[in-house]
Amino acid sequence: MTDPITYQNYIDGAFVACDNHIEVRNPATGAVLSRVPESDAATAERAIAAARAAQKGWSQKPAIERAGHLRAIASNIRQNAERLARVITEEGGKIQSLALVEVNFTADYLDYMAEWARRIEGEIITSDRPGENIFLFRKPLGVVAGILPWNFPFFLIARKMAPALVTGNTIVIKPSEETPNNCFEFAKLVAETDLPKGVFNVVCGSGAGVGSALSTSDKIDMISFTGSVGTGSRIMAAAAPNVTKLNLELGGKAPAIVMNDADLDLAVTAIRASRIINTGQVCNCAERVYVQRGVAEQFIERMAVALAETRYGDPIAQADVEMGPLINEAGLRKVEQMVRTAQNQGAQLVTGGAVADLGKGFHYQPTLLANCSHDMEIMRKEVFGPVLPVQIIDDLDEAIALANDCEYGLTSSIYTRDLSTAMKAAAGLDFGETYINRENFEAMQGFHAGVRKSGIGGADGKHGLYEYTHTHAVYLQS
Ligand code: NAD
Repeated sequence: MTDPITYQNYIDGAFVACDNHIEVRNPATGAVLSRVPESDAATAERAIAAARAAQKGWSQKPAIERAGHLRAIASNIRQNAERLARVITEEGGKIQSLALVEVNFTADYLDYMAEWARRIEGEIITSDRPGENIFLFRKPLGVVAGILPWNFPFFLIARKMAPALVTGNTIVIKPSEETPNNCFEFAKLVAETDLPKGVFNVVCGSGAGVGSALSTSDKIDMISFTGSVGTGSRIMAAAAPNVTKLNLELGGKAPAIVMNDADLDLAVTAIRASRIINTGQVCNCAERVYVQRGVAEQFIERMAVALAETRYGDPIAQADVEMGPLINEAGLRKVEQMVRTAQNQGAQLVTGGAVADLGKGFHYQPTLLANCSHDMEIMRKEVFGPVLPVQIIDDLDEAIALANDCEYGLTSSIYTRDLSTAMKAAAGLDFGETYINRENFEAMQGFHAGVRKSGIGGADGKHGLYEYTHTHAVYLQS
């Protein structure tokens, strides 16, 4: 085993030592992997000041030049893909194949956002006044704070920094204290390029320390946050006095509707994949099923077999597992408690239902619960673990009403062979995204966003890019 590595914040183009540290552990083994900065508010302010000092010069460069910097970082990432994937697996428990997908997707995302450099478009509008034109210019906001969760930690750096930088902003990233190592490795690859100093900064620390310092700062022009509803709401309150622009990507409780005419093989395969990916710790993946009565028994039988066959364990020791551990002890206890409560309320345990005793690590068995009903917390609250609760419905209207009656509104899905059923569901589901006959996973050119408590604003594609700009109207009387 290698000695724990000590990482340093990346501020103004340099790695900067910190007096206090947090230990980062492997959730599959408990081994200490690294010591990372537990920074104070003053350090966050230094990073904000560096980002602000760099912003004007950065925004004055042609967008195509800024895009070139993103491409250089993408290229560095690709050259180090295997190594980076291992860092992600070690600190987050993600299986190696998925970590590698995340790394390559991150590089592709940087390239994709770089392509927008020639398409940052304003408008010219005719005026009511003779001889006047109205110009709408797209301008950068200034300094963005990117506050990240632990579940797709590497990709989420790019999802925030790529649109921010290509449109002329600078950024301060705060990684999750659970999975910061990959962010420092990202910073090392940035440092190897000639990105101007201060454009990209990383400050690590707790939510109450660095997170709060970024959210309350009047020198931050936009907070781009991904994480839980509770933290998102605290950030909104902290940002309110400065009226800081917010982009919030929060939790989900994605419904999957399976109709009598569904391709059941497809539905079982896709919903299972959506439930076990990243050990069920994904905001947009199927977290509850509404299955129509005619196929309910078959669906539950097949899903039980499919889930029970899942290979899980330490993803470094066994490269072929399909599922690793949960992120930490608190996550494991929450899943355990939610399953127990559902059972006490009458849910029927079909498979799984217990902490998996593998000697070490925070493993939970893939679990299927049948006979669930709308009054159960398990059908309405985010579990964030490999647990699939199933409720039987009689028709589409009932499924849509139950799906919508939830504080979250991120993603949803439906399995049916009938086009009009699919379109009726798409019209009726009040969600940011609906996937028809496929697993829930967004494309970088789409738009990822939630309604209700799942967030404000969105990411990806043209609309996600423009979240990082403001529109300046200029009236020119000739
Ligand atoms: P979390 O809210 O606990 O933490 C996220 C980040 O916020 C961390 O960096 C944390 O240090 C920081 N933070 C905590 N308190 C803060 C405060 N008071 N001020 C500022 N920052 C603070 O979330 P998590 O447990 O890391 O991630 C899991 C959650 O993220 C789930 O709810 C999941 O659904 C959600 N998520 C959503 C999306 C999406 O795109 N909608 C994507 C991934 C994860």
